[in-house]
Amino acid sequence: MRLLDLLFKDRPKGLSLPEYKSLSNHDGQIKSLPLYEKYHVSLLQRDGEMAIPTVNIGAHVKAGDIIARPTSHLALHRHAPTSGEVSAIVDITETHPSGMTVKALEITADGLDTPTTAFAPISDYMSAERNALIERIFQAGIAGMGGAGFPTEKKINLSEPVETLIINGAECEPYITCDDLLMRHYSEEILRGALIFARIIGAHNILVGIEDNKPEAIAAMQAAAEQLQNASAQPLGVPADVHLAVHILPTQYPMGSRHQIAHYLLGKRPNIKARSYQSGFICHNVATAKAAYDAIALGKPLLERLVTFSGDGVGKAGVYATKCGTDLADIAGDIALAERLDEIIIGGTMMGFAVSPDNDKPLVIKRETTSVLAFSDRLHHTIAHDSDEQNCIRCGQCADACPMDLLPQQLHFYGRGEDFAKLEQHRLFDCIECGLCNYVCPSNIPLVQVFQHSKGDIVADKNAKREAEHARIRFEARNQRLEEEKAEKARKAEARRAKLRAGKQPAASAETASKTATKPAGKSRQQLIEEALARKKAKQAEKAQQRQAQVANEPTETPAEQPAQETPNKPAAKSKQQLIEEALARKKAKQAEKAKQRQAQAADEPAEQPVQEPVAKSKQQLIEEALARKKARQAEKAKQRQAQVAEKPAQEPPNKSAGKSKQQLIEEALARKKARQAEKAKQRQAQTADEPAEQPAQEPPNKSAGKTKQQLIEEALARKKARQAEKAKQRQEQTADEPADN
Ligand code: SF4
Ligand code: SF4
Repeated sequence: MRLLDLLFKDRPKGLSLPEYKSLSNHDGQIKSLPLYEKYHVSLLQRDGEMAIPTVNIGAHVKAGDIIARPTSHLALHRHAPTSGEVSAIVDITETHPSGMTVKALEITADGLDTPTTAFAPISDYMSAERNALIERIFQAGIAGMGGAGFPTEKKINLSEPVETLIINGAECEPYITCDDLLMRHYSEEILRGALIFARIIGAHNILVGIEDNKPEAIAAMQAAAEQLQNASAQPLGVPADVHLAVHILPTQYPMGSRHQIAHYLLGKRPNIKARSYQSGFICHNVATAKAAYDAIALGKPLLERLVTFSGDGVGKAGVYATKCGTDLADIAGDIALAERLDEIIIGGTMMGFAVSPDNDKPLVIKRETTSVLAFSDRLHHTIAHDSDEQNCIRCGQCADACPMDLLPQQLHFYGRGEDFAKLEQHRLFDCIECGLCNYVCPSNIPLVQVFQHSKGDIVADKNAKREAEHARIRFEARNQRLEEEKAEKARKAEARRAKLRAGKQPAASAETASKTATKPAGKSRQQLIEEALARKKAKQAEKAQQRQAQVANEPTETPAEQPAQETPNKPAAKSKQQLIEEALARKKAKQAEKAKQRQAQAADEPAEQPVQEPVAKSKQQLIEEALARKKARQAEKAKQRQAQVAEKPAQEPPNKSAGKSKQQLIEEALARKKARQAEKAKQRQAQTADEPAEQPAQEPPNKSAGKTKQQLIEEALARKKARQAEKAKQRQEQTADEPADN
């Protein structure tokens, strides 16, 4: 039965690739690098946002001190890789396919590499609080070290236990050997880290998978497993209820993928669309397990890792313990990096990405950097290039090689056409981007790059549609709410009308309540309003009559007294306009009465009138009265002057002008002048006609006294016309009597 199981066991697909691993693991040693002058810690997070520095420029830090804190769910703390001074925030080239420039904290090393004391070791990690272990993993910045860089805390902080923990030691990518050497040298630490993970997630089954091309690593791990399973290892050994086993995997690419290794170890294909724990397992890289052990048992945050430096462009290829944040330019001399390089690949030839060898900014090692492969001739590695791309010949090799049983040529076709529906229909998101299709394609088509691009487009399209859908839902919900509010208002209005009709309108006040109580039932609202208005008008008319009677009976009442008397009797319901009109009517009546009195007084005692004038006269009245008095005085004086001139023209007193206005004096002078001129003209006429000598002399010299200028002018003109008419008559008579003289 067991043999049949093995024979017919469902096995993942894959290919055996050229390994090139001996370039870096031939001596089986982990090499070290010197302490460099400067290190750079990128602030870029997985979500594209920047971590926030927690130290100032100039601050001194120890190796492992937190220098930046995360700002998002999937971000991690940043730690100083060595002790020294935070010297600047600088631009670096992010170790990412985009090669974008990002900000980084620069640490200038003091050469001591003093470790931090911020993380106390948790020595009883097999009995310590689960949450304390998770928190330490988070604070120590532990992330997936197989290349993904996913925060480990997020993978293990689960609400439900997971049965199986897979420790991934496959390391299936060509050239890369860092996990191999890690397992050889740190097998016990890796397995203790696995025990910590198993305790946190509640796993009872620990499966360690190692490809059969790493016999030394397999041996070391098996030995460590046996040791930890011995009773002497307790209480920090393998618990009795936990099964720990090291499994040998066939060397085939991409066995290191979590789907492939889980498929192989569990004997069934996990659901690609589900999270791993939903399929009953969690998978961690061997380096991640070791980092978790260091953080918990030793109190060491993740500051360095093993990195494979290999390729024909690396003179001293090997696995180096490298601090995170080390600039590749600093390492170049120690690994004998060739000066002329065609390409540098970060992370492996199958799933890694190329960076420019001519970077003018720091390009640093990160937590997830498994390898740096440098090539002087790109034909030595296995990644296809755009420049070599040919048309698809429909050979089908990509489909044969695909470990996920996809149709890469079809995906490529739909991806170029941006047919998102077809791409999803052909399971684009099941692609694990292993690069095997690229590797086998005879046309060197960059299939994986197209798939990555298409995935990004689809995600962006879905996000846009989701946002539009949210906007539509919000819009419709708002409209519905407005409709409901409108309907509710209409319902309430109808209810009020129904109450009115039924004569049950609720009382708003005691007065309204009494009115409502006496209101005849069955009357409409309009009828009630009209009745109220009629009552109001009747009251106003009644009051107006009373006011008129008061005005007629008390005409001498002063304006100051009237309001005081009127206010107490004033009905409370009078409008402001009515009160104003009433006040104006009273005022006019009083003014008319007073004017009558003034006229009577003016007729009787003109000299005393101003003294007896009422105080409340208007300004206009006062002016008019003053002008009238002035005219009367002028008329009186003019009369007196005429009388004086007529009686004694020669005896006019020298102080004649005393008491007269300047205008009067001027007018009188003009009148006298005109009179003299008229007198002379008459005399001249009399001399001419021998007759009217007496007439001008009888004309009073001060004839114009008291007359206006216009009257004087008109009189003068009249006299002139009369004289002209007289002269014309005389000339006619002369002409008629003496024709022989002409
Ligand atoms: S289609 Fe995806 S999963 Fe299939 S071989 Fe290509 S990269 Fe790998
Ligand atoms: S391997 Fe390349 S050429 Fe062949 S079918 Fe796939 S995409 Fe086309």
